[in-house]
Amino acid sequence: MSEKELVIVANSKIEGKGVFAQKDIPKGTKVIEYVGIKITKKEAERVENPRYIFNLNKRYDIDGNVPWNKAGFINHSCDPNCEPINISNSIWIIALRDIKNGEELRYNYGYDLVDYENWPCNCGSPQCIGYIVAEEHWHKIVKK
Ligand SMILES: [Zn+2]
Repeated sequence: MSEKELVIVANSKIEGKGVFAQKDIPKGTKVIEYVGIKITKKEAERVENPRYIFNLNKRYDIDGNVPWNKAGFINHSCDPNCEPINISNSIWIIALRDIKNGEELRYNYGYDLVDYENWPCNCGSPQCIGYIVAEEHWHKIVKK
C-alpha cells in the first residue's frame, strides 16, 4: 500500500513554486522534514543564498538549497500556517493550525532587519507587512 504524501510541489501564486497540502493536515503535524547538506557555521557564512540556511545547533547549519529538499520550496508569508522547528537536530515543518487539502504551506522566514528593504513580500495576505521580516520586528517597520 502506498500512502499519498502529505504535500506536493506545484506552481504558487505567491512566487515560483510552492508546497501544497494533498490532504487535510491537522494542527501540530510534522508535515515534512527540511533536509539538505550539513555544513559548519563557517561554511554557512560563505553560502551565496542564505535563504536556505537553517540553524541546526552550535556547530552546524543545514543548507537546504538541494534538489531533494521539497520543503525548500515553501514560500514565506506574513500569515503563516506552519513553522520550522528543530527537533533533536532535525528541522521539521510543523502545522501551526489545521491546513486544508489544497492549501499552500507557508511560514515566516524570520529574517532580521538587516537590509530588509531588499526582501519585499508579495504574500498577498491582508496583514502583509510588505517585507520578509520576522514578526518580532514588525513594529519597527513603516509601511510604505
Ligand atoms: Zn507578506
